[in-house]
Amino acid sequence: MRPARALIDLNALRANYRLAREVSGARALAVVKADAYGHGAVRCAQALHDEVDGFAVACIEEAMELRAAAIAAPILLLEGFFETDELGLIDQLDLWCVVHSLWQIEAIERAALQRPLTVWLKMDSGMHRVGLHPADYPAAYRRLQATGKVGKIVLMSHFARADELDSPRSNEQLAAFEQARQGLSAEVSLRNSPAILGWPELFPQQQSSDWVRPGIMLYGATPFEQPQALAARLQPVMTLESKIISVRELPAGEPVGYGARFISERPTRVGVVAMGYADGYPRHAPTGTPVLIDGQASRLIGRVSMDMLTVDLSDLPQAGLGSRVELWGKHVLASDVAAQAGTIPYQIFCNLRRVPLIYPHG
Ligand SMILES: *Cc1c(COP(=O)(O)O)cnc(C)c1O
Repeated sequence: MRPARALIDLNALRANYRLAREVSGARALAVVKADAYGHGAVRCAQALHDEVDGFAVACIEEAMELRAAAIAAPILLLEGFFETDELGLIDQLDLWCVVHSLWQIEAIERAALQRPLTVWLKMDSGMHRVGLHPADYPAAYRRLQATGKVGKIVLMSHFARADELDSPRSNEQLAAFEQARQGLSAEVSLRNSPAILGWPELFPQQQSSDWVRPGIMLYGATPFEQPQALAARLQPVMTLESKIISVRELPAGEPVGYGARFISERPTRVGVVAMGYADGYPRHAPTGTPVLIDGQASRLIGRVSMDMLTVDLSDLPQAGLGSRVELWGKHVLASDVAAQAGTIPYQIFCNLRRVPLIYPHG
């Protein structure tokens, strides 16, 4: 069997979830959209199920997968419904629903529902993607209440720049939110991972009725570009690994791989690893991107191809055929690989495919 695989450490997932709760002092919806950022939504949800306050997903298809796996905890649809006729299933599956637009409120007014709908009413406090304008927010809240079909309404917004620790933007968004929600006493949900980890001073701990929405931090990757104290406590959940399937000894001056992107400057031992961009390893990772070979640091060389990539074994005389290679995991951080490739850990996790997901701790 091809040795490429992703090991998923569910104990680390649980530890990261607890950290989100601990540092926020709030309840936490574990964000498991996009197949739990590539980590396997059902298995991750099952691992958190006994302690979780709820889950969040991007669409009803993702929620249905969890309900079909007997996940009974609350599940929030982060963009609500895309078409009015989803409301029947939302009702039947007892899902929580973001409302971000007037047309969704109108649809709820017209809907025949069996039970009170839990709505997370989203305000656009400055990201300018989705959400009701602050000036329209109180009226939308009251209109939802007046439908008689809604139970709890949670006040919600989303930060655009919480990962930029020197930006005043999160403060400004919070101020806009607080200003517009005056007079509405309800539970509040504002924080994604960077806001949980990076902005604790904006959210004094007494707000235990609040909700946070950790995503990337659950999977143990930092949302920040620079080192950060709380992010340093995260435990990487995924280890993407494979093995060396071929070894070449090259003299100086020889090219390696497509496009001769690497030319040996000295006699070089090249290891070929069964891992490529068809597995989700970023094609744009350049020569020098860190890898770990049998526990020792080395580097990618040459261009990543579809099913294989090449690494430098010159300083690792013990390494060879069958050596284990960590592409990212506990030692080589996914955030570092992503930065080398000009992207973010979110994307390299979501891009994962073809490799089997293995859950060693059940
Ligand atoms: C994806 C998402 C999150 C999680 O964001 P992270 O940065 O991964 O923590 C939180 N809230 C909303 C609305 C989202 O869409």
